[in-house]
Amino acid sequence: MERLAKEIETCSACNLSGSRTRTVPGEGPVPCRIMLIGEGPGKKEDETGRPFVGRAGTILSTLLSDIGLSREEVFITSVVKCRPPKNRTPGREEIASCIPFLHTQIEILSPEAIVTMGRVASAAVFEMFEIQFPSFKEVRGRAFPVQRQENADEMLIIPVYHPAVITHNPPARSILEEDFRQLGKYLHTIRDPL
Ligand code: SF4
Repeated sequence: MERLAKEIETCSACNLSGSRTRTVPGEGPVPCRIMLIGEGPGKKEDETGRPFVGRAGTILSTLLSDIGLSREEVFITSVVKCRPPKNRTPGREEIASCIPFLHTQIEILSPEAIVTMGRVASAAVFEMFEIQFPSFKEVRGRAFPVQRQENADEMLIIPVYHPAVITHNPPARSILEEDFRQLGKYLHTIRDPL
């Protein structure tokens, strides 16, 4: 994983390399049972090189703690490893350029559950595993079993709302909390209960 982070650090495969301050490869234990994937780094993440350290990160830590998890137990990363200017949504080509890094991270970590936060991360991961993605609303809060590779153990993909949703839409807090409560229930059904 460290080697991969170094590779990401010097990557210039898409436009985002021109505007980033630092790359944000992700952090957490290796291997790891639970992986969380967001859309892309924001301002604070770009400055520090660490994922989810801004306001959304504080919200995420609270939501995880509410279901008995700490940040130290999960690996947190995003679909693109460089900040899109003004926090815009990463484009299709940028995602396509960066997705091999995410794929390699999943291979290295061998997680039992992948939690995709928000529409962009969910759509990208569903496409990676060739799962139909009708719309984010239809998949959020549900668990989708997939096989990482032939003969590998089954893994769950669980889409939830992105924690940043409540920074611009405070009433969405209850939906977000509901998603994480549901997530907590799913995580207790995976092979070795937490
Ligand atoms: S977003 Fe990904 S593909 Fe684009 S420059 Fe950064 S590391 Fe490379």
